[in-house]
Amino acid sequence: MDLFDFADGREGYYGDYGGTFLPEILHSTIEALKAEFRAAKEDPSFWQDFVELMQSYSGRPTPVTHLSNLSQILGGAQIYIKREDLNHTGSHKINNVMGQGLLVKRMGKDRVIAETGAGQHGYATATMAARFGFHSKIYMGALDVARQRPNVFWMENMGSEVIAVTDGQQTLKDAINECLRDWVTNMDTTHYVLGTACGPHPFPEMVSWFQSIIGKEARAQMIETAGGLPDRIFACVGGGSNAIGLFQGFMDDSEVQLVGCEAGGFGPGKGNHAARLAYKDASVGVAQGMKTYFLQNDDGNMLETHSVAAGLDYIGVNPILVHLWEQDRVRFEAVTDQEVTEALKISMRTEGVIPALESAHGFAQAIKEAEKMRPDERILINMSGRGDKDIFTIADALDDSHWKQFIQTKAEQYGAE
Ligand SMILES: *Cc1c(COP(=O)(O)O)cnc(C)c1O
Repeated sequence: MDLFDFADGREGYYGDYGGTFLPEILHSTIEALKAEFRAAKEDPSFWQDFVELMQSYSGRPTPVTHLSNLSQILGGAQIYIKREDLNHTGSHKINNVMGQGLLVKRMGKDRVIAETGAGQHGYATATMAARFGFHSKIYMGALDVARQRPNVFWMENMGSEVIAVTDGQQTLKDAINECLRDWVTNMDTTHYVLGTACGPHPFPEMVSWFQSIIGKEARAQMIETAGGLPDRIFACVGGGSNAIGLFQGFMDDSEVQLVGCEAGGFGPGKGNHAARLAYKDASVGVAQGMKTYFLQNDDGNMLETHSVAAGLDYIGVNPILVHLWEQDRVRFEAVTDQEVTEALKISMRTEGVIPALESAHGFAQAIKEAEKMRPDERILINMSGRGDKDIFTIADALDDSHWKQFIQTKAEQYGAE
């Protein structure tokens, strides 16, 4: 199944979703990007360069680990995890930014810009820019700058200029607007490094392509080390890049169930969560360059969202995943903050692994389902990142008063809120 076969002439659409909704002034820039991306995708040496770069710089291929203790305790399916947490900078985000870095070099540009909420994408982009020798500017809401002091510190020390955006609510949405303004002004020299598989075409396809390295490796590793394909695979879904990255490896294996795990936050009810598809609170709209499902009210204003995991706290979702969901190829489930905390506790105690809060959504859903499966069945979870970055939030969620006190003191030293 080729997700990107646009034989019906609607390039950049997946069913009714996707498209390129941008101001006229950016059309020539996006056309140039599309052409360069198309050429890179058809050039086998480009993918080869990407794989070699990820091997030497980020430790790929990341392993698949059998969680034998956890599987035994639950008494159901055998649980395996794909270790994207072992990448340089601690998550799958580096796959996308290094890929785009190679493309920027190919386009002959020397400046990159990015927007970031929790700071993880900004951090990865600053890393890439330092490695490739690009100028870089990272846009971040002023509120987020205050909350994410450590990430800002590293970005600046890797040579990026971090801009605290003071418009609007001073968070991600305002940073995106400011970033677009920069792009319009500097399109000849500058590439906008989008952080997830969203936004205008070709970004959903391009980010998915770089992230497909996860699924390609994982399929071969499951056959080799687990003795066969998984019966179900689980990935958390923020914008959707790690999920579509894993799922692509198994798209033609119709016997493999694909499960996307969204942020259920406090539970159902508008404003309590960021589950666009699982809770059916979202509707179709056009924003941020694409047509997809958004958490919005009747007049098209975006709703407040909530999740314990900053990386899943997003109003829109990848249009390719929406299309696969409508075709019943991908199932969507919501996982609450509370279930995430329980999944974290059990994976730390039984296996000594600390998934990022985002990844723990996949763990929680997989644990629920594993119990009801047979020991000869297999589950694969994408461990999209490591939880070290979440120490403040996890201590808070576990209500560990001793550590909360200690961390609060450290946070004040860093200047975080
Ligand atoms: C950013 C992030 C996510 C969410 O982004 P996707 O594009 O949905 O993958 C998930 N996990 C981790 C660890 C992240 O940093």
